[in-house]
Amino acid sequence: MHAIDYERATDTAHALRLAQSADTRFIGGGTNLLDLMKGGVERPLRLVDITRIGLADITELPNGGLRIGALARNSDTANHALVRSRYPLLSQALLAGASPQLRNMATMGGNLMQRPRCPYFVDTAFEMCNKRLPGSGCAAREGYNRMHAILGASQACIAVNPSDMSVALAALDATVQVAGPRGNRSIPIGEFHRLPGSQPQAETTLAAGELITAVDLPPPAFARHAHYLKVRDRNSYAFALVSVAAALDIADGVVRQARIALGGVAHKPWRMPAAEALLVGHPLEEARSRQAALLVRGAQGFEDNRFKIDMAQRATVSALRRAGGIA
Ligand SMILES: Cc1cc2nc3c(=O)[nH]c(=O)nc-3n(C[C@H](O)[C@H](O)[C@H](O)COP(=O)(O)OP(=O)(O)OC[C@H]3O[C@@H](n4cnc5c(N)ncnc54)[C@H](O)[C@@H]3O)c2cc1C
Repeated sequence: MHAIDYERATDTAHALRLAQSADTRFIGGGTNLLDLMKGGVERPLRLVDITRIGLADITELPNGGLRIGALARNSDTANHALVRSRYPLLSQALLAGASPQLRNMATMGGNLMQRPRCPYFVDTAFEMCNKRLPGSGCAAREGYNRMHAILGASQACIAVNPSDMSVALAALDATVQVAGPRGNRSIPIGEFHRLPGSQPQAETTLAAGELITAVDLPPPAFARHAHYLKVRDRNSYAFALVSVAAALDIADGVVRQARIALGGVAHKPWRMPAAEALLVGHPLEEARSRQAALLVRGAQGFEDNRFKIDMAQRATVSALRRAGGIA
């Protein structure tokens, strides 16, 4: 029998005090953690319930941006008037994820931290998974790898990050606010999730005992021209094969800023700076969007997922067209 100590934190400082051992997990909505515990993938000795520590508010920042508390539920964030009007990309990405019931429970912090869905990771019947058992090997490389990475994979792991929300946050240049035993710090979203390298068990740069307190969005620049496109096996309740967060700032018909992030293709949301640069300073038109999409550079497929390379390019063109209103 695996005994678990359950503690309910009353505020952030209390949560941090309760989480001093590496065997502790914070619990937000519980929609990912409890599944993994039931399957024996996660075996914490202590659970710290953070649902009563506040941090669910969505407030405007003095610079014109928005702060979304780590405990804001995914449904509340997606449907918040300021998120819908100023950051429709985030609203769309959240609503593309999971189901209404899950979104009612899931939190910002938990969504950022949700773990990959690689079947060899989530099923302990498989002996090889470097993410679950470091050093055991990666069964997905030679196994069923239809949902797996085409970018940034390593010998050790080819799993992908499953979060839709994080793809939009990457395109929006969000910042993750963190409190920890050594104080507070801010992590740019591009540095929050990691590529697997030789240590696929670490999916983020969050240190042990650190708590996500909020996600900050910069002042809105992409409210009018943004689109989240998710390609999946069925139209609801399915993880992305490929997704694209496209956001454009267009003035007088010319693209002033462009953001493109891909989901379902790597161990972290995949920004495409070279493709973005190709669009800036020009009118958005089909040929240039196709050129930009071709810059899914270095993509490499495995036995079952080579189709994703072409799919990522087509989805990028389509998302850009819809964001720019030329679809
Ligand atoms: C059937 C199903 C389908 C789904 N489909 C999709 C989908 O299509 N797209 C998608 O994006 N997601 C999907 N999800 C995932 C869902 O979005 C996540 O389960 C959810 O976002 C996790 O949030 P949570 O608050 O429940 O996290 P929890 O389960 O509470 O926690 C997850 C992890 O985050 C850590 N954590 C939680 N809060 C914090 C914090 N503040 N600071 C530090 N660490 C923290 C926990 O310790 C744990 O390790 C699906 C889930 C299910 C079960």
